[in-house]
Amino acid sequence: MPNRSNYIGRFAPSPTGPLHQGSLVAAMASYLDARAHHGHWLVRIEDVDEGRSVPGAAENILALLRTLGMDWDGEVVWQSRRKELYQAAAGKLGAHVYPCGCNRREIADSRLGTAPDGSAIYPGTCRHGLAPGKTMRSLRVRVPDPADKVDSAGNADLIAFIDRAAGPVAQHLATESGDFVLKRADGFWAYQLAVVVDDAQQGVTDIVRGADLIDSTPRQIYLQHLLGVPVPRYLHVPVVRNADGEKLSKQTGALAVAPKDERQALAVLQASAAFLQLPLAQASSVGAFWQAAVPAWAERFGLASAPA
Ligand code: GLU
Repeated sequence: MPNRSNYIGRFAPSPTGPLHQGSLVAAMASYLDARAHHGHWLVRIEDVDEGRSVPGAAENILALLRTLGMDWDGEVVWQSRRKELYQAAAGKLGAHVYPCGCNRREIADSRLGTAPDGSAIYPGTCRHGLAPGKTMRSLRVRVPDPADKVDSAGNADLIAFIDRAAGPVAQHLATESGDFVLKRADGFWAYQLAVVVDDAQQGVTDIVRGADLIDSTPRQIYLQHLLGVPVPRYLHVPVVRNADGEKLSKQTGALAVAPKDERQALAVLQASAAFLQLPLAQASSVGAFWQAAVPAWAERFGLASAPA
């Protein structure tokens, strides 16, 4: 058993369907980074949005990871079983959180446009209390005002971080996100809160995931600041797109990765490695593939090879 560094990484799939090549690339990148650091690699099932979770999808994802030789450390964590942690975190945020009675149409009508991830920017209507006649639909967290370089609680509107692939990233929360939802109108906790609570609670030091989530990162860092938990390192890898330039997803009809034998498993792994620009010769087995892929990743990202 090699010595473990204090690196903790994770793969956090949403079980909304079978794994496709795009989610496999994210899984592979996080797995390789953890192994190249001699760290731990955790798997967390992000079924916080229970309405979108598909029965059996999580089990299929776990079985596929095993088939592909991606063994995780420790117990798999399920977000649907951790609601009291999210509740406690929302409580800890205290006066930063407020009830909001606005519906989607009202927010869209304010025409503030959309955040980079496509969500409508909230105009702050319920910031100072629910408007008369409105009832609470969701819980939102207040972001600093645009005019405040640093608000009275010491929070900056501009959140900046260095991504290990993209370099410096910065976002003005007030104008590019607005106060965002922590608990949704359907009663489920929002991804942004759950992911921050779980990464902190699991001691995750390094987040490696698809670049489609880079625009969510400043909101997550803001929550980390408010909750007083460490900010992990981030590495966002390119997302796989189809011939029409759309990100692979269930909605865009991405095919499930379902290798029937080791030859097919190898083909799937080699395709993901090629997408991640890892120059690898054809491997003869799944084990041989990983043996070659880990040092190739370490070299690509300039990691000093840690003692085995
Ligand atoms: N559950 C998210 C997804 O499947 C990933 C979240 C994350 O890695 O932070 O897209």
